[in-house]
Amino acid sequence: MANDNAIAVLGTGIMGAAMARNLISAGMEVRAWNRTREKAEPLVDDGAKVTDTPAEAAAGAGFVLTMLSDVDAVAEAVGGEDGALSALPDDGVWLQMSTVGADGHERLARVADERGVFYVDAPVLGTKKPAEQGQLVVLASGPEEVQERSQPIFDAVAANVLWLGPAGAGSRLKLVTNNWIVGILGVLAETISLAEATGVDPSQFLQVIEGGPLGLPYAQMKGQMMIEGEYPTSFSASLARKDASLVLDAAQVSGLRLPMTEAAASHFDEAIDAGHGEEDMAAVYQAARPDRG
Ligand code: NAP
Repeated sequence: MANDNAIAVLGTGIMGAAMARNLISAGMEVRAWNRTREKAEPLVDDGAKVTDTPAEAAAGAGFVLTMLSDVDAVAEAVGGEDGALSALPDDGVWLQMSTVGADGHERLARVADERGVFYVDAPVLGTKKPAEQGQLVVLASGPEEVQERSQPIFDAVAANVLWLGPAGAGSRLKLVTNNWIVGILGVLAETISLAEATGVDPSQFLQVIEGGPLGLPYAQMKGQMMIEGEYPTSFSASLARKDASLVLDAAQVSGLRLPMTEAAASHFDEAIDAGHGEEDMAAVYQAARPDRG
């Protein structure tokens, strides 16, 4: 019988570590696993138990929460002898919160089905700071019978939890939202570059849009980083590029071309090739700046 007060958190990167801390604050028993164990160790001071394997983290727990880079990392962490699903009780729930796209979701849903555990597809909106503040938006989708059980977990990490229907609906809405984000970053980088190339102070551009219908807070935040040329990571450029690929794959399957997203993706490629992959996604500006090679 699963212990619903215990949760295995697999992946203690920028998002997973912050979510684990909020789960501990909400009174959950958190067992944390990370491929690079040292990165999970600081969570011990917060009250987490750090384990050597995903299976050890999941043994007897009511929930496994995955917050890893991509679908391959998730599949590896839950599958196999040391994988979390080998130890999760039969009535345990897998909350899959990484961004894996539509095909990725299908693949993981099959893994859950083969093992016979409950599977909730629940990617999130929000970045490092909202994760730290427990202010994410959860795009949850999955079996109705585990919604009530899962709700306290999501409430611990989120300001808003949307239940969208059968598993997969969350990942599809996340893709649509990511297209918006990737596009904004691409056009923001080009707009700031245009300002600089034409002798306009790019800060004036941010000032004239601020507070009006054109003035996204996101543009202020990321635009400032571009102007300053400093990119402390909230969401890495390489993961943003991964998300652009997931969007483009889903569009292709649906017979749709997204030339603007393709252009943004190639800006990300250029920035990553120039060594900015682990910096914040605002480093896409490095591929748009007027003085680039
Ligand atoms: P992150 O800080 O780069 O952390 C990535 C995590 O994945 C680390 O725990 C890393 O382990 C692990 N990992 C990578 N490859 C692995 C592999 N092959 N096997 C096992 N573990 C592996 O990323 P993040 O920003 O927390 O993002 C996590 C997920 O949330 C991603 O799907 C991302 O797209 C999504 N997301 C992020 C944001 C954001 O703003 N940051 C917002 C919404 C959604 P190591 O420590 O060993 O490298």
